[in-house]
Amino acid sequence: MSFILTTRFTRPLRILARHQLTSSSCPAYRPASLVPRLLPPATSSSPLHTTAARLRPVFNSNDRNLWRTMAEKDVTRYLKQSHDRLFENNKAWAAEKARQDPGFFAKLSEGQTPEYLWIGCSDSRIPAEQITGLEPGEAFIHRNIANLVCNTDLNVMSVINYAVRHLNVKHIIVCGHYGCGGVKAAMTPKDLGLLNPWLRNIRDVYRLHKDELDGIPEQDKRYDRLVELNVVEQCRNVIKTAAIQQSFAKNQFPIVHGWVFNFHDGLLTDLKIDFEAELEEVQKIYNLVD
Ligand SMILES: [Zn+2]
Repeated sequence: MSFILTTRFTRPLRILARHQLTSSSCPAYRPASLVPRLLPPATSSSPLHTTAARLRPVFNSNDRNLWRTMAEKDVTRYLKQSHDRLFENNKAWAAEKARQDPGFFAKLSEGQTPEYLWIGCSDSRIPAEQITGLEPGEAFIHRNIANLVCNTDLNVMSVINYAVRHLNVKHIIVCGHYGCGGVKAAMTPKDLGLLNPWLRNIRDVYRLHKDELDGIPEQDKRYDRLVELNVVEQCRNVIKTAAIQQSFAKNQFPIVHGWVFNFHDGLLTDLKIDFEAELEEVQKIYNLVD
């Protein structure tokens, strides 16, 4: 099976899926060591052999000028490399985990009992486990644009329900981040097509807190505050669900937390939401406990 990349190129590029490349019957298959590299081969003492270097992309794919000047054969080769390096990284990761703990994968295959449900932004710069030092099996993860919790979104509602009722998570973390493109787009008063209904949830947050936000003269600070208020409102949306209210009444967990991540120093800020006070306030209108 293959798939076609059309992107911006004048004619489609046919990229071979990995299982086809590893088939001995496929003439396109060559072992990784024989595939031409866009970077010169690394020596054993080269920094390319370090884990950090191995995880770096061959090119910065954000460099649009570079893409424009690349020959088509180099684009094809780059796309193959940028795909294959994930499998190389995966093999290295699996080997390292097995070396550190020979029983690691046996334990992983037994099932999951995560303590945390993480609801974060899809932004690629906020890998939940890495910034919190969590290992596989410790966090159930849901991410979407601007970390929204909408009651008509069957995806997030299913995640919350499963995490609370079946996995018995103890903490639910809604994590936003300063510099969120979704929040910024919502502050831009224009038609953004398919994004309109999604971003309207953030525009509703603005409307709910209009007086406070309009009282902040600096645009950057207003933007930061909307990020925080969006997290608070999404925490309230989590608290409105039957799963959280009924589990807390029975078990005293989960607790809902609102955090914000900062790109400038890599640190998380706890907005210190008073969960029990919020729950009490929410239940004045949205009580779902008998
Ligand atoms: Zn974001």
